Amino acid sequence: MIANVRPRELPSPLTLARPEILELEPYSHASWEPQLERLHANELPWRSALDATRAGLNRYPEPQPRALVEALAALYGVAPAELLVGRGSDEAIDLLTRAFCRAGEDSVLLSPPTFGMYAVAARIQGAGVVRVPLLDAERGFALDMPQVLARCSSDVKLVYVCSPNNPTGNRVDAHTLLALTDALAGRALLIVDEAYIEFSGAPSLAGEVARQPYLVVLRTLSKAHGLAGARCGALIAAPEIVSLLRKIIPPYAMTQPTIECVLKALEPGELAAAAERVGNIRAERARLAERLASLPSVARVFPSDANFLLVELHDASRAFARARAAGLLVRDVRAQPGLGRHLRITVGTTEQNTRLIAALAAEGPP
Ligand code: PMP
Repeated sequence: MIANVRPRELPSPLTLARPEILELEPYSHASWEPQLERLHANELPWRSALDATRAGLNRYPEPQPRALVEALAALYGVAPAELLVGRGSDEAIDLLTRAFCRAGEDSVLLSPPTFGMYAVAARIQGAGVVRVPLLDAERGFALDMPQVLARCSSDVKLVYVCSPNNPTGNRVDAHTLLALTDALAGRALLIVDEAYIEFSGAPSLAGEVARQPYLVVLRTLSKAHGLAGARCGALIAAPEIVSLLRKIIPPYAMTQPTIECVLKALEPGELAAAAERVGNIRAERARLAERLASLPSVARVFPSDANFLLVELHDASRAFARARAAGLLVRDVRAQPGLGRHLRITVGTTEQNTRLIAALAAEGPP
């Protein structure tokens, strides 16, 4: 008998895509030939007096700007052909849903409590949502692997795992994720959302996409790099998936100010500063967790690999009101399954965290 030889012969992940997207003739944007003067894109030849960009806001930006794709690919340790840059992970989630889910026929699978956009994007597309809850708090909000596999019927095209998970803060280990993508290969794409991975200190799965054609990894500059307002994220996947999604991303998705800002943010000095800020957040996370856990109003603080803490309170409404009265908005997550007494608290500056601790420590009504 011949032993099971790896890698397995797998059909292309594009066999899961919507046939009409595979056949789509994409919009043909103005060609990008910067060595020539542009009289082909119906732009104005003059810059606005308000325009502080290097390239000029009077020009359409380069679609999938090469320098930006290369810089992000270098940051995440992948090939440029494996990376699509878009307006945050939210755009990547939207594109995946539109490319792989047929309205009224296909579904996505997710494990609540988790990030809300996976289900919203599916609903917008008219796709179904299969929910396989995470195991309970006593079992560390772990992924219910047997149930995920059991409920992954043939209509499920995308399986989302958020790691570290929003709002529970825990991470799924790489071994489990690779076993899951192996088990799903040929049936569904595994989307690993690593929006908060930098705060965990654990390695990313991004480099694995070269070996795992059914794995998609989402990264963002919104969290660790402090650029949520710039709207920039990366989808990392097999080149054929990236090429397919390039067909449906709006023609000039990345704005010129964002392109220039992110290119600066990816220079060594800025990356070092970002890493230092992540270190500060991790230190504050530990301090905040310890102080919150000692308060009588707090029932439990969950371990976190992200830049927020999930906190169970004896009276979440009162704690929410107290934080608000101290000028601090925290996230009420009580509508999420299993989190009836919980708040999600983003780690802030030392001063903000200290103010929050004082607010939750106060006795009596808010
Ligand atoms: N994924 C997760 C898990 C998130 O929590 C968020 C934002 N809250 C996003 C993705 C969206 O991030 P972006 O700003 O990159 O669109």
